[in-house]
Amino acid sequence: MVSDRLARGGRLILVDEGLHLPCDAEFKPGSIEGPAAPRPGSKWAGDSSKWTQEKKLESMHPELRPLVKAVIHGLAERNFQPMIFFGWRSVAAQLEILKKHHTRVKFSFHNVTKKNGTPDAYAADIVDKRWLWQDEAAKNGYWKALGEEATKQNLYWGGVWKKRVHHKLVPAPDWAHVQLVPNDRLRRLKEESGL
Ligand SMILES: [Zn+2]
Repeated sequence: MVSDRLARGGRLILVDEGLHLPCDAEFKPGSIEGPAAPRPGSKWAGDSSKWTQEKKLESMHPELRPLVKAVIHGLAERNFQPMIFFGWRSVAAQLEILKKHHTRVKFSFHNVTKKNGTPDAYAADIVDKRWLWQDEAAKNGYWKALGEEATKQNLYWGGVWKKRVHHKLVPAPDWAHVQLVPNDRLRRLKEESGL
């Protein structure tokens, strides 16, 4: 487990291997069930990538909401078409993503949940609705703009992340991902989520 800190503003760049989550599009929930998913019929059940923008905001920690709104506003002012792809998602949904991407990350800042089961995400994935994670996003300067707007709001941006491979740092960007706190807070939040 790597312990370096991720600085705000994207100057330092180190990600805990295992904490970095690829937030690619094309996530399909498949069968989401079991104790890690909200009860069927509950407000927070179902595919959280399909929720309205308002509900995705509501699924975030209260301190994250206004910052994400400000990022979206900033991007819209620059003629992008930002949208939240994921705010909160269940651990069950996380595991579905893991299966697809063959990573070992079982809990991310998207999964933080209050003890009573209410979503309390510390992260959001913000994409341009025209491009999602396709190459056009980079070609049109969207990720760079997202990084700038996120940094303005004092959020941590996944686009600058790196990981250690054989003692070398290599880029491991999670382009759409912004989060409220540094990576070393994850373990504690996981415990507080009762997960
Ligand atoms: Zn993310």
